[in-house]
Amino acid sequence: MTNNPFPSHKALVPFVSVDHMMQLIHHIGIEPMLIGLAAAIEQDFKRWELFDKTPRVASHSAEGVIELMPTSDGEVYGFKYVNGHPKNMKEGLQTVTAFGLLADVGNGYPVLLSEMTILTALRTAATSALVAKYLAPKGADTMAMIGNGAQSEFQSLAMKAVCGLKTVRLYDIDRAATRKAAKNLAGTGLTVVECTCAEEAMEGAQIITTCTADKQCATILTDNMVGPGVHINAIGGDCPGKTELAADILHRSDIFVEFPPQTRIEGEIQQLAPDHAVTELWQVMSGTAKGRTSDAQITLFDSVGFAIEDFSALRYVRDQIKDTQFYHDLDLLADPDDPRDLFGMVKRATPQ
Ligand code: NAD
Repeated sequence: MTNNPFPSHKALVPFVSVDHMMQLIHHIGIEPMLIGLAAAIEQDFKRWELFDKTPRVASHSAEGVIELMPTSDGEVYGFKYVNGHPKNMKEGLQTVTAFGLLADVGNGYPVLLSEMTILTALRTAATSALVAKYLAPKGADTMAMIGNGAQSEFQSLAMKAVCGLKTVRLYDIDRAATRKAAKNLAGTGLTVVECTCAEEAMEGAQIITTCTADKQCATILTDNMVGPGVHINAIGGDCPGKTELAADILHRSDIFVEFPPQTRIEGEIQQLAPDHAVTELWQVMSGTAKGRTSDAQITLFDSVGFAIEDFSALRYVRDQIKDTQFYHDLDLLADPDDPRDLFGMVKRATPQ
């Protein structure tokens, strides 16, 4: 990977490839990694006010969206590049792919570059489980998992690792997706039930996760399907014009969000008035707002994915790869002997 003619002068940037990320997961273990990521995200939500926050920068097209998600805690800067293309799956491509970067705010130099397609699935699942830890009814051990695509096994395992989930009830309009998820979850310790409709998946479930991909406002859950006391973890509605829940459900729920200015554009609450009351999750985690207050309450995590979760995930990875072989050194930064002599550095390079 590194082809460096001036090794003694180079500042190299650690790069975690897809292959290395997979090896890191096996090295740490997927459930300990999900627990570690949830802890890192919780730490950062508890110091929320320190961060630069902005709704992500989105470039929409007829087929999907490409987004940049930046943030900084004043010492470290991070961003993620991520796409969302629901039609990709039919072409044998991922709906969501991503990579991300951390940099030193002091000098602006990158300190980590990483794949984030797998890391996004892990951090989204860790965030869901962290939020469920605060909001799901006590003793919740059964989850309906509606949408059994790329995110689904990560979501199920995070709920097991962080919240003690015992049973997952799977449903997807595509039976092949449900069979794939059931096969992948076999042997994980979860009881897996394959269901033939969303209503069946929701029987006895205290947590309902919707994680479908459609480039339109879909109605995955209708009002009559949702009984009192459940926690809804709504993952798939994360773009303007892309929602999963009937608006009536939102009116019966207490709604919890990551960053309201972004969620009002992208989340389920785009269906509501712009001043509809929502609670910010960082306030629940830092004890300044209430989470679940009654057994009958419906709590809804209107998840869209926020830059701070990616920042947390990247800093977790940065810490975990130290003293391992799970990264390459990338020759990403020019480093002339005299910082002003960039041209001289080019002249000195040996033509290949
Ligand atoms: P995917 O394409 O791999 O899987 C989506 C699944 O949903 C497919 O199996 C499809 O058959 C199923 N589906 C579509 N319509 C359905 C319906 N009406 N009922 C049941 N199943 C249905 O996508 P993925 O990578 O698993 O992502 C799922 C969704 O989560 C996407 O919309 C993505 O944008 C979103 N996402 C959100 C976050 C976040 O932080 N909130 C992070 C990552 C992905």
